Amino acid sequence: MRFAREPPFGQAGGLRKQLETMPRLSRRTFVAATAALVARPAIAGLARDSAEVDVAIIGAGTAGIAAARRIAAAGRKFILLEAADYIGGRCITETRTFGVPYDRGAHWIHAPDLNPLTKLTARRGLEVYPAPAGQKVRIGRRYAREGELEDLLALQVRANRSIADAARRADGACEQALPNDLSDWRQSIEFQFGPFFCGKDLAHLSAVDFAKSADRNTAAFCRQGLGTLVASLAEGLAVKLATPVTAIDTRRGVEVTTSKGTIDARAAIVTASTNVIASGSIKFVPDLAKRQLDACAKLSLGSYDHVALELADNPLGFESDDLVFEKAANSHTAAILANISGTQLCLVEVAGDFGRELAGHGEAAMVNFAADWLAGLYGSEVKKAIKRSHATRWNDEPWVLGASSAAAPGGQSARRILMEPAAGPIWFAGEAVHETLWGTVGGAWESGERAANAALHHIGAFKEPPPAPRATLKRNLRQPRI
Ligand SMILES: Cc1cc2nc3c(=O)[nH]c(=O)nc-3n(C[C@H](O)[C@H](O)[C@H](O)COP(=O)(O)OP(=O)(O)OC[C@H]3O[C@@H](n4cnc5c(N)ncnc54)[C@H](O)[C@@H]3O)c2cc1C
Repeated sequence: MRFAREPPFGQAGGLRKQLETMPRLSRRTFVAATAALVARPAIAGLARDSAEVDVAIIGAGTAGIAAARRIAAAGRKFILLEAADYIGGRCITETRTFGVPYDRGAHWIHAPDLNPLTKLTARRGLEVYPAPAGQKVRIGRRYAREGELEDLLALQVRANRSIADAARRADGACEQALPNDLSDWRQSIEFQFGPFFCGKDLAHLSAVDFAKSADRNTAAFCRQGLGTLVASLAEGLAVKLATPVTAIDTRRGVEVTTSKGTIDARAAIVTASTNVIASGSIKFVPDLAKRQLDACAKLSLGSYDHVALELADNPLGFESDDLVFEKAANSHTAAILANISGTQLCLVEVAGDFGRELAGHGEAAMVNFAADWLAGLYGSEVKKAIKRSHATRWNDEPWVLGASSAAAPGGQSARRILMEPAAGPIWFAGEAVHETLWGTVGGAWESGERAANAALHHIGAFKEPPPAPRATLKRNLRQPRI
């Protein structure tokens, strides 16, 4: 038996053809290939060092792509400026490392029936399929029995309710809201609700943020990778890659300074992560208000990384997309998402304070931990089956600096502060700027669209967008809410 999944977190013939032939691009990552497909000279007639547009969009991750599509649909001039040399930000797929799609960032499509991305995948040639229902739990060298999983499920429900009750009274830490009697499942529940779900330990997590987060009990996967799906939505958009924005001056209109010149705009949308904004790498003139900087600090990014292992010949007998936790004795634990889309690729997920510390020791330490952790649960033979490996280290990615935002205790209201215009005609967008879908690709998408609407209103160009096409995803198996 399995219990309710509580994870942390499309279709066009042309694109499918590109994906099928992707392994032949031997010396280039899929990311670079995708970037080349979508990166055209910015806007026709744009001079290299100076240009005028309606809206300057900073960051070509999910939120930036959503914003650009909305502005393009309104027939307005925009420029999409990206610091990195690829599009997608925290949502990228590459095939170079393992020869199969590897989502280095986001992988789960939460609540696919409602997720804005599912609705947009129609006609894109990508396969989105429901994630299997439930999870497995390892207790030492065996799987948990039905009665044990029922106990765990009952405790998860109680813990969830306690946090919701506490959130109605005050915005304290989730940890303080947990019931005392979680028996010997406490560490597992703390890991699932905290690091795995939000990237932060429960002591650093706002109970209100947790309680407000939208239902993520159903999920889907994109066989070609969620990053591929998001990149496909940028097709046809002009993106300026490797163009970090260094300053935004709103004293006379909006002047955006980049490493390659200056752009004059009527409005700007900033999608850089809260940690990037707090780092000061984009200078705002005049300065951002203290309440906005405080909001970024309260919504700092948690830590969440994949240790990706290629396990030859399925030595552990996993089914496709199996999600396995352990009955943990302490916080040095992980989860494994195995046989991604039926391949040999498995992701051991490390997160929260422990994940941050581990990632700080480097990739080799992360791979060693993952191998030891699996050996502890399945026996040391598994180590021989590990072929290629890779570990992400999102805290060190200079244009991101972490995984995704999770409000500190008392900090949930900061999300609304980031929804206000930042300074003059500047709007923030991104996963942090969403009250319920924070930390997700769907939330980033919706916030990008919302910021674009606000910018269009500001320049007097807002038009109601056409209704999205209906999703074609087969209905997911309904999973109980925990
Ligand atoms: C390991 C991991 C796993 C995750 N798993 C999931 C999941 O399964 N499901 C899910 O829904 N979400 C998941 N998330 C969260 C999800 O990836 C993010 O919520 C989402 O991708 C954020 O999109 P964004 O547009 O807000 O930000 P970003 O993707 O960070 O985009 C911002 C862009 O701005 C660029 N930028 C920054 N500074 C500048 C500058 N000065 N000038 C120009 N450009 C700049 C960055 O390079 C970046 O491309 C995961 C995240 C991580 C790290």
